[in-house]
Amino acid sequence: MFTRPVLLKKNKSILKCPKCGNNRRFEAHSDHCCEDSCDVWVVCKCGYDPTTELWGYRVESVMGSLDLNGVQEALLYSWNEALRELENRQAKNTPKVAENMLNKQGGDL
Ligand SMILES: [Zn+2]
Repeated sequence: MFTRPVLLKKNKSILKCPKCGNNRRFEAHSDHCCEDSCDVWVVCKCGYDPTTELWGYRVESVMGSLDLNGVQEALLYSWNEALRELENRQAKNTPKVAENMLNKQGGDL
């Protein structure tokens, strides 16, 4: 497995880490997933990694090289897209919880 530190300029295109609010310091990871393909993804400086839950969001790369393009793709997909997916899931779960609470309250009455 290869890793490479990533330091970005101030930006608005990379989503903030839900744990620590960072969107500039990451560690890019590259790991062989099968014989002729690698997974590339990024991990926040605090260790938060959305792809531990959503490993499908890791970027498949033939060389697995952590060059500028590889890192950029990983930031946009394995970080931004994965975080959006997690947000969507949470948003979908919220009304369900509220519904359950309503039912419970109704039952108590
Ligand atoms: Zn973080």
